[in-house]
Amino acid sequence: MRPDLFSAPDYYNLDELLTDEHKLVREAARKWVKREVSPIIETYAQKSKFPKQLIKGLSEIGAFGPYIPLEYGGAGLDQISYGLLMQEIERGDSGIRSTASVQSSLVMYPIWKYGNQEQREKYLPKLASGEWIGCFGLTEPDHGSNPSGMVTNFKDQGDHYLLNGAKMWISNAPIAQIAIVWAKDENDRVHGLIVERGMAGFSTPKTKNKWSLRTSSTGELIFDNVKIPKTNILPNKSGLGAPLGCLDSARYGIAWGAIGAAMDCYDTALRYSQERMQFGKPIGQFQLQQKKLAEMITEITKAQLLTWRLGVLKNEEKATSAQISMAKRNNVEMAINCAREARQILGGMGISGEYSIMRHAMNLESVITYEGTHDIHLLITGLDITGLNAFK
Ligand SMILES: Cc1cc2nc3c(=O)[nH]c(=O)nc-3n(C[C@H](O)[C@H](O)[C@H](O)COP(=O)(O)OP(=O)(O)OC[C@H]3O[C@@H](n4cnc5c(N)ncnc54)[C@H](O)[C@@H]3O)c2cc1C
Repeated sequence: MRPDLFSAPDYYNLDELLTDEHKLVREAARKWVKREVSPIIETYAQKSKFPKQLIKGLSEIGAFGPYIPLEYGGAGLDQISYGLLMQEIERGDSGIRSTASVQSSLVMYPIWKYGNQEQREKYLPKLASGEWIGCFGLTEPDHGSNPSGMVTNFKDQGDHYLLNGAKMWISNAPIAQIAIVWAKDENDRVHGLIVERGMAGFSTPKTKNKWSLRTSSTGELIFDNVKIPKTNILPNKSGLGAPLGCLDSARYGIAWGAIGAAMDCYDTALRYSQERMQFGKPIGQFQLQQKKLAEMITEITKAQLLTWRLGVLKNEEKATSAQISMAKRNNVEMAINCAREARQILGGMGISGEYSIMRHAMNLESVITYEGTHDIHLLITGLDITGLNAFK
């Protein structure tokens, strides 16, 4: 892969809206991505392998639990810093951002919010340092967009619970020490259980043949009469609202992350258009290429503004789930469109692993589907504005 020459676009001087702390956090992450991620990521994507050596650095830049309090090993940052971290990491690769998102918003967040003090003390510091990796099991083979239909269940056996069922498409599953698993009790109520690697009957087979998110390790979670200690249930929230609360936090991070991928595609295409000569001119001089680039920076700038405002609302604890859905949906589509346009600007080189664009394009095909598909987020907006539920 070519040297990483990334220079971040800021067409509307949005840096003026950031605090010194935001800029410091972003700068540290940006430098780390250039130094540690960019030089190796293409090789790992080609091999479809998670670069485990990045775990320590992710922890050091604060990407494991950015907004989790310092007392539990988190970085104690605000929501805009969290967003900027996700933006910078996804600028490098969506798969690495996925690893951090899952660890922070889908594993640490539920333990922090729905767990008891013993669970927080036992798990959060190890997750924040990267000593343990976690995963989040909601999706099942027959229940993706409709998690309320889940069949994974547990029965009270007196001194323990007995867990049965299966989850699929689970990020981090093959490398995780713990899984936050959403399952129904005997009254059909959804609860979160902490399942630990090594528990008898629990396995995590790896999902192979992915053309997308190849640096993120994906797998299944299989539960065959797994005995779960009663101390491993998350006691402070139950019902489908519990996993959906985690998804709100992760989707917010994705909204920022997608901007990172889009910025990388735009920046690469802009530089290429100034250097690549055809018909005796740089291709950036042709109106058709300028149209593509001008539309890309317009859409990136709109997404930056939308997402910064969402961050302010999150900091004030006013952001609604529907607002988060709108940003996730808008930004991921915007990023996919940028990746497709950038790929064309690079001509044949657009499909080469020498540049990051094709990898971003393929990665974003997962990002537009996971954590609620593009269609589902539109229906959430539809429900919010009409009051009429298209899911029923
Ligand atoms: C790489 C990757 C990593 C993932 N990581 C995780 C993870 O860590 N944890 C986890 O729990 N899950 C994870 N997922 C699963 C992901 O969240 C689901 O794939 C997603 O929610 C969609 O579910 P599905 O694949 O079953 O598609 P389906 O729900 O079967 O949807 C298929 C199509 O039908 C459409 N559709 C469904 N219902 C409606 C409706 N009511 N109206 C209109 N259209 C509809 C959808 O939009 C989609 O286009 C991951 C997925 C991928 C690809």
